[in-house]
Amino acid sequence: EAKAVNGPSYATYCPKMAKKSLARIEIERDLGRAFADGEFFIEYQPIVGVESGRIRSFEALLRWRHPQKGIIEPDRFIPLAEKTGLIVRAGKWVMSEACREAAKWPSPTGVAVNVAGDQFKDGTFVEHVRTCLAESGLAPGRLTVEVTESLFTVEIDVIRDSLAALRQMGVRIALDDFGTGFASISNLRDFPLDQLKIDRTFAKAMVANQRDASLVELILRLGRTFNLTTTIEGIETVGQMDLARALGVSEAQGFLISVPVPADEVPAMIERERTGRMLLPHSVTA
Ligand code: C2E
Ligand code: MG
Ligand code: MG
Ligand code: MG
Repeated sequence: EAKAVNGPSYATYCPKMAKKSLARIEIERDLGRAFADGEFFIEYQPIVGVESGRIRSFEALLRWRHPQKGIIEPDRFIPLAEKTGLIVRAGKWVMSEACREAAKWPSPTGVAVNVAGDQFKDGTFVEHVRTCLAESGLAPGRLTVEVTESLFTVEIDVIRDSLAALRQMGVRIALDDFGTGFASISNLRDFPLDQLKIDRTFAKAMVANQRDASLVELILRLGRTFNLTTTIEGIETVGQMDLARALGVSEAQGFLISVPVPADEVPAMIERERTGRMLLPHSVTA
């Protein structure tokens, strides 16, 4: 036992926990000026058609280049940015930046932007998206807004109205991390949605056991019922890709296809895919 080797330990002293919370405090402190100092940047990860192997869109993923700690992933700072309210400003920046970038890509390649629930609170979200589209010249149909199921727990009417307004403009709405949160079947019926993104835990689980494969099939049936595109996240192996195809998932995203890449690598990736020089899972298995 570790205790016997390292001597007595006390509930009030746990070096590992103390270190963890110190890191958290530092991140919270630094987050305040990180934005102003231009330390945020975006990486883009392709989403492909499962049958065609063709790139359909890229998801914009926020990154923070910390001057001392290096690159910090969103799971470590987005919760803090939500707590401090910074997420609203950062989210606006991501939206305008992603639209500007995507407008340079060959049409109809799309871009997907993650949006936090708090961004709907001040009532300016829809107008901001409209401005980003107008200023970038990106066709609304090339933009997907990704929201998570946690949205269904707060101010549901405001959010439904905002999503409906976006959809009216031609923007697509995706429900992210589906299958892990609070969405009920009636949410799928009542919300203006175009796409279900099946959480990446299912990509692993569906190849490991029949029960999870059946769950994915159930989600796909729901998708068909509500006329939604289904996208599976976190595809890391050829086996997962093959099963996704066999089950009838329409789009896939994951490290097997590509990790998220810097903005300046996107045009070359599109070009490689278009000229058949990108090794996509379709050609791996076909
Ligand atoms: P998400 O929207 O579900 O994004 C997909 C996440 O899965 C990304 O993590 C991506 O790098 C990761 N991923 C992609 N393929 C694979 C794979 O094959 N295996 C595994 N294990 N992971 C894979 P990332 O970039 O760390 O982002 C984490 C989460 O942070 C995102 O999950 C999203 O909820 C949030 N996020 C990222 N950017 C933004 C943003 O601009 N605004 C908001 N509000 N949230 C963001
Ligand atoms: Mg997402
Ligand atoms: Mg997701
Ligand atoms: Mg996620």
